[in-house]
Amino acid sequence: MRCPYCSHEESKVLDSRPVDDGSSIRRRRECLKCDRRFTTYERTDLIPVMVVKRDGRREPFDRSKILRGLVQACGKRPVSMDDLERIVADVEREVTGRGDREVSTLQIGAQVMDRLRRLDDVAYVRFASEHRRFRDLETLVEEAEILKERKRREAALRAQVPLLTVETGPTKSSQ
Ligand SMILES: [Zn+2]
Repeated sequence: MRCPYCSHEESKVLDSRPVDDGSSIRRRRECLKCDRRFTTYERTDLIPVMVVKRDGRREPFDRSKILRGLVQACGKRPVSMDDLERIVADVEREVTGRGDREVSTLQIGAQVMDRLRRLDDVAYVRFASEHRRFRDLETLVEEAEILKERKRREAALRAQVPLLTVETGPTKSSQ
């Protein structure tokens, strides 16, 4: 969960409690970089996000498929399973967290590549070329650029409007 103040990705959870009759969880977090505190609400969501495949068919989002593709791309590369699990968890969070009911395989691929590129060049190229069977590289790069630009804009927006995340002030003594 990105810090609304400094955009750092990692925070520790200080307190979790169910709210709204247990359909949401309120989490009090502390940024691992700037130490500021913020509150997030996680909604339980039983409706699975559907993945729209290139031919238009839909299937429920399946994290193991992403992991399998990553393991394949990372064969004999110095990448740990922990790293791969983290990528999958990141992508899953991204996909399920934006509230859309559907996501395309291309969007998922672009997100995986965006993260894999930072981890290992060779694995990135392998994954990208595997993905290219579905689309030419130019379009993929375009997709990644659009994604990057959107992330940049979102981060800028979050920095401007920290009120998007509910700020409840210093931890209350009741906790
Ligand atoms: Zn921070």
